[in-house]
Amino acid sequence: MRRPRIAVVGAGMAAARFAERYGALGGTGTVTLYGAEAQRPYNRVLLADVLTGRLTPGDIALPTGAARTSTRAEVVAVATAAHTLALRGGATEEWDVLVLATGANPVLPPIRGVRRADGTGLARGVHALRSLADCVALAEDAARARRAVVIGGGVLGVGTSRALAVLGCEVEIVHQGPHLTERHLDADAAHVLGAGLAALGVESYTMNRARAVHCAAGTGRVSAVELASGYRLDCDLVVLACGVRPRTALAHAAGLAVRCGVVVDDTLATSAPDVYAIGDCAEHAGTVHGLSAPAWDQADALAARLSGTGPDTRYTGSRPLARLTAGPLEYAAFGEVDEAADPALDVLRLSDATRGSYKKLLLREERLVGAVLVGDVSTVDALADAYRLGRPVTDEPLHLLVAGG
Ligand SMILES: Cc1cc2nc3c(=O)[nH]c(=O)nc-3n(C[C@H](O)[C@H](O)[C@H](O)COP(=O)(O)OP(=O)(O)OC[C@H]3O[C@@H](n4cnc5c(N)ncnc54)[C@H](O)[C@@H]3O)c2cc1C
Repeated sequence: MRRPRIAVVGAGMAAARFAERYGALGGTGTVTLYGAEAQRPYNRVLLADVLTGRLTPGDIALPTGAARTSTRAEVVAVATAAHTLALRGGATEEWDVLVLATGANPVLPPIRGVRRADGTGLARGVHALRSLADCVALAEDAARARRAVVIGGGVLGVGTSRALAVLGCEVEIVHQGPHLTERHLDADAAHVLGAGLAALGVESYTMNRARAVHCAAGTGRVSAVELASGYRLDCDLVVLACGVRPRTALAHAAGLAVRCGVVVDDTLATSAPDVYAIGDCAEHAGTVHGLSAPAWDQADALAARLSGTGPDTRYTGSRPLARLTAGPLEYAAFGEVDEAADPALDVLRLSDATRGSYKKLLLREERLVGAVLVGDVSTVDALADAYRLGRPVTDEPLHLLVAGG
């Protein structure tokens, strides 16, 4: 019997994990990753460490097992009935099974002056950070920059701000939300995170919106960010960290069901036979995660299924764990984090301003239903297990707060 040909569109974190797991599980098909980037797969989460120089691009490479990886190979069309894909440059490849792992694109906010007037990209000195190429371009500019403004105070904005501060830039974060990383952290935890950033010289302007980016007349290079209040932040570098949007154009053009992401069921199958989607591009049960752990959970489930070791494996969702790894600015959060939403919740809290750490656990009827950890995340795995298993916290609850279990 001919070995099935598995084509993976995208050679990012989900693709690499799928390829590695499929090989490790003894899958007999041939796996080919088609990646638009010049590099083989790497761990995108660690880009901020490449930016600071703590890691090299080689350090963040990801294993792919026996899979073949085609770099600079952008897939421009997929024909689901014919089981073919077309590459930029004209080549056509056949497949038996297709896995879409196209990731996400940075959202470019509608801020005046962010793009060049001639439409050829972002204004000089304005960057987004998604790829190693973005990282190299940002590092080059950051080496010459004195003052940087990061627009967006979510997980990416905070991690990038820290990296730029480590590189010696004065950094200011402009964030629309009520506090930093409000999708993951409560206000007290964000305060501790903000204090950690402030200690590095990073100033945060929350509840503020950037209205325009101004460029110097002579050089055409960014010179200031104007806030909605009219206040101007002088700068020579701007980083956009305003979230991501699933890359779905290819799936859409191929006629697959797409809402926010490419719609998949519990088998990670799309609306077309033999076509699957995983990672940031996939929408499962109405959710697009945009985080590495769910991307890997999906890759693992699909590898088990397609390799034949777990033909009935279903992906029923991921542990909702948000995590930032940025030196001492680490945080982790999962489950319910806002006690105001339910007066029946019991709250355990430990805050140590001098150490920059904060822990909050939420319990309902002696069961852990959520946690926020900033600074010291050493107990996160034990806590997440207690949360996942839903076992009652019968021991001294303070032990849970300090030791995690
Ligand atoms: C700087 C940074 C920091 C992050 N930090 C965290 C963090 O702390 N915690 C966390 O959970 N997550 C974090 N993330 C998010 C995490 O990296 C993503 O969730 C993860 O990379 C998703 O994997 P993916 O394979 O779906 O997408 P990606 O890793 O983006 O891979 C998609 C790949 O597909 C390629 N591609 C797209 N279309 C085509 C095509 N048509 N043809 C060929 N190739 C194509 C792209 O070029 C890309 O290489 C961070 C992301 C960034 C950028």
